[in-house]
Amino acid sequence: MKCGLLGRRLGHSYSPAIHKMLGNESYPLFEKGPEELENFLKNGDFSGINVTIPYKKAVIPYLDELSPRARLLGAVNTVVRLPGGSLMGHNTDYFGFETLLARSGLSISGKKALVLGSGGASNTVCAVLQQAGAQVVVISREGENNYKNLDRHRDAALIVNATPVGMFPENGKSPLSLRDFSELEGVLDLIYNPARTALLLEAEERGLVWENGLTMLVAQAKESAEWFSGTPISQEVIPKICLALEKQMENLILIGMPGCGKSTVGRLLAEKMGRKFVDADLAIEEAAGRPIPEIFAQQGEAGFRALETGVLEELGKQSGLVIATGGGCVTRRENYRLLHQNGRIFWLRRSLEALPTGGRPLSQTTPLEEMYEKRRPLYGQFADFSVQNDGSPEEAAEKIRLYWEETP
Ligand code: NAP
Repeated sequence: MKCGLLGRRLGHSYSPAIHKMLGNESYPLFEKGPEELENFLKNGDFSGINVTIPYKKAVIPYLDELSPRARLLGAVNTVVRLPGGSLMGHNTDYFGFETLLARSGLSISGKKALVLGSGGASNTVCAVLQQAGAQVVVISREGENNYKNLDRHRDAALIVNATPVGMFPENGKSPLSLRDFSELEGVLDLIYNPARTALLLEAEERGLVWENGLTMLVAQAKESAEWFSGTPISQEVIPKICLALEKQMENLILIGMPGCGKSTVGRLLAEKMGRKFVDADLAIEEAAGRPIPEIFAQQGEAGFRALETGVLEELGKQSGLVIATGGGCVTRRENYRLLHQNGRIFWLRRSLEALPTGGRPLSQTTPLEEMYEKRRPLYGQFADFSVQNDGSPEEAAEKIRLYWEETP
């Protein structure tokens, strides 16, 4: 079986990793220009191929047959070479979104669902939601229902983001605010990088049901793999693959008082897990071209904090890192979203008597007890888990690793 992915730019694709977990070791990426499509489809060395942006419609003229779903949606994301050599097009994104909706547990029959964006993915989402009995409204920048007349739809129970707004590397952007949707139950975002877009972070803060697009991506791959091999694959693999990918992409972030051991424990943890370690304080010094005491002396704490937020904005977007933060990063609430969007946050605790103060501008001017009293609730608000670091750094690193491995 020779299968792979056809698209224009595929450098960041998760699909090879997903198909590997589905049992297909080799899953090459075929980056082709539009003028190469016909020749590739007719003569390419593949038995099956997934198709992504921008070719889901463009491949159709070169196919011999379409499944009813692909015909209905006018989009193909899976092509199979049949035994006689003819090409059959399928759409497995439908099953992908159906699975995502089911995972959310939301029941939307008879309720209003807003679908943001009117591109290819929106089309699929609308078809699934209509089938589920929702009253579907597409919000399109230039459409009859747009972002300026959202007041018509404040009774929506579900919002689905089918735009690229908020996707890496444009993290932090959101297509709309959820503030005035009084009947909103849930938000689904087709984006999966970052794990929590700004829209999903807001949904989480408001206590709504939310899901990113990873389940859709994995579920469509599962159905594609079934078309490729002709063999059914258990539905249970979907959450398993999602969890494995989530873990692989997740950053592990250490917070805690200055001198509590974040850098030492972070380095050990990164080593144990085969990950890259980043010390945010060193990254700030590198960005500023000066040591931290000098930044404090010249720009004060506010100037330092602004630099720190800029660095965390870049680090928080990345995936699969171990990050040691500066002790005061929790004093800016906005840093929480930057760190939480792709990361799990560990509070490293150490008794105050054991904390060194040398070379740390704030620790030298503020009594540690006073600093700790102010920051303790903030560490608690940021942290997903707290770890005592009064023994060896190896012990603390191992506790973090175990907790991370054992909890979804
Ligand atoms: P697309 O065809 O480019 O459509 C995106 C739509 O979003 C556009 O038609 C546009 O609709 C709207 N849009 C684009 N830029 C915007 C902006 N700056 N502000 C507001 N709206 C904007 O893309 P697509 O293939 O439908 O994919 C949409 C998103 O879903 C992407 O992020 C993609 O990665 C994701 N996706 C995920 C999966 C998955 O498996 N999880 C599958 C497919 C797609 P209007 O002009 O009507 O506003």
